Amino acid sequence: MKTIAVLTSGGDAPGMNACIRAVVRAGATGGLRVVGFRHGFNGLMAGEHLPLDPRSVANIIQRGGTFLGTARSPEFKKLKGRRKAIEALKSAGADGLVVIGGEGSFRGAQDLIRESGIRAVGIPGTIDNDLYGTDFSIGFDTAVNTALEAIDRIRDTAASHERLFFIEVMGHRTGFLALEVAVAGGAEAVLVPEAPTDLDQLCRTLSESHRRGKSSSIVIVAEGDEPGVAFTIANRVKSSVGMESRVVILGHVQRGGPPTAKDRVLASRLGAAAVEALMDGQTGIMVGEIHNAVVRTAFPETWEKRKGLDLSRLALVGALAG
Ligand code: ATP
Repeated sequence: MKTIAVLTSGGDAPGMNACIRAVVRAGATGGLRVVGFRHGFNGLMAGEHLPLDPRSVANIIQRGGTFLGTARSPEFKKLKGRRKAIEALKSAGADGLVVIGGEGSFRGAQDLIRESGIRAVGIPGTIDNDLYGTDFSIGFDTAVNTALEAIDRIRDTAASHERLFFIEVMGHRTGFLALEVAVAGGAEAVLVPEAPTDLDQLCRTLSESHRRGKSSSIVIVAEGDEPGVAFTIANRVKSSVGMESRVVILGHVQRGGPPTAKDRVLASRLGAAAVEALMDGQTGIMVGEIHNAVVRTAFPETWEKRKGLDLSRLALVGALAG
C-alpha cells in the first residue's frame, strides 16, 4: 500500500477535521502518500482530490465542520456513480480509502469494496452516536455540550417567566443525544423514539410537579423521524397543564463549533487506528472505541446491529426531576 485517500461524508460533525489531520499524519508516519477528496462521495465521483501532507493539516484540530467539505450523494447509490468513483480513486493512485461518516457512508464504502477491490476503512463521525461498534462517535460529545449550553440559557428564561419549555434536539431516529442532554441538563422529562411516548403520563407528571410548586420545567424531545414534533407534543400537552409553554428547536446549532477535548482525542485515536488497519491489510471495517479500547467491526454489523440506548437513564431523569 502506497497511497490512501480520505473523505468525509454525510452530516458534518465536530472533530472531523481532527480526524483528517490524524489520518494524514499517521499515514505520513507510516510512509504513505495521502490524498483528500472534497465533498464526500460527490467529490469522489468528480475526481476532486488534493494532496495532503502533514503541513497541510496544520491548525485545523480545533475547527468544527470539515475542511474537505461533505455531501449527501444520491448518484453514488447507483452503480454508474460508483464506477466514476472507482476510476477517480485509480487515477489518484489510491489503493486504500478512509471514510469518515455514518452508516450510509459505510454502506457506500462497502459497495465500492465489492465492486473494485479497493480497501476501505470507516471512522464513525456523526453527532447522533447511533452507530453500533463504538461507544461514542466523533462529534457526539461536542453536540451534547453545545445543546447543554443552549438549555442552560433557556432554563434562565424558563425560571424567570415560570414557563414550560419543550426543547427538541437532533439524533436521527435515536435518543442518544436527547437522553444525555436530559440527564446533564436536569430536565423534567425526556421523550425518545426507543420508548413509547405516553402523553397522558407526561401531562400528569408536569401537572403534579406544578402543584408541588415547581414553576418552570424543561422537557427534552428527540426529533426522531419527524423534526418539529416538539410543536405537536406541546400543543397536546398545554391544555391539560396549567402553565404557559414555549417550543425551541435547537436544529443545526448543535452541529457546529470547536470540538471538545473528548472528541479531538477520539478523532485522533480513530484516525490513526484506521491507517493502522489499512496497513494491516484490513478492509470493510469500522474502527471504533469500546470501553476505551480500539475495536474493529465489520461494516454490515454497523447497520445490521443496533446499539442499545441505556433506558435506565430514562428512569433516572424521572427520579431526579424533583
Ligand atoms: P449521518 O449519520 O450524518 O447521516 P451518513 O453517512 O449515515 O451520516 P447518509 O446521507 O445516510 O449519511 O449517507 C451518506 C452517503 O452515503 C449518501 O449520500 C450516499 O451517497 C451513500 N449511501 C447511503 N446509503 C447508501 C447505500 N445503501 N448504498 C450505497 N451508498 C449509500
